[in-house]
Amino acid sequence: MALLSICTYPDPVLRKKASPVDAVDREIRKLVDDMAETMYGAPGIGLAANQVGKPQQVIVVDLQRPEYEGGLLVLVNPKIIAASGETTYEEGCLSVPEFFSNVKRYSEITVRALDQHSKPVELNASGLLAVVLQHEIDHLEGRLFIDHLGATSKDIFKRKWKRKLKEAKEER
Ligand code: ZN
Repeated sequence: MALLSICTYPDPVLRKKASPVDAVDREIRKLVDDMAETMYGAPGIGLAANQVGKPQQVIVVDLQRPEYEGGLLVLVNPKIIAASGETTYEEGCLSVPEFFSNVKRYSEITVRALDQHSKPVELNASGLLAVVLQHEIDHLEGRLFIDHLGATSKDIFKRKWKRKLKEAKEER
């Protein structure tokens, strides 16, 4: 396994639509292993392949909380096939470090995908798991959580980010 480097905003790969995976072969399983290691190392609770520079429809999620016993969840070609309700959660993203903001999402979703063994799975998610899955599936569409912000929060983000990029430049 290997730690992959995480692409950060405004890297154009984050805006790419990920392509569907034809076959869950050795290469994909290696990508999954590396993505899982990268997510745990970050640490984070979800990671999409776009974030490691590979626009393919692969996500890994592990909420790493005692009340969630699912462990590592690997979804290939995930599709949201049903969604209902509404919830707001303060989100962050490994590709948009040190910025957090409330995002409104569906509170319950049903996702269809393949697992790491190429087996079709369908799962119902609610609460934090539903939020994280929507966040990661957004990545595969080239969407980021900051795209969901209202005008005021988006302004705050832009100002913070400008300052951050400027500071990074000065440090170099
Ligand atoms: Zn993210």
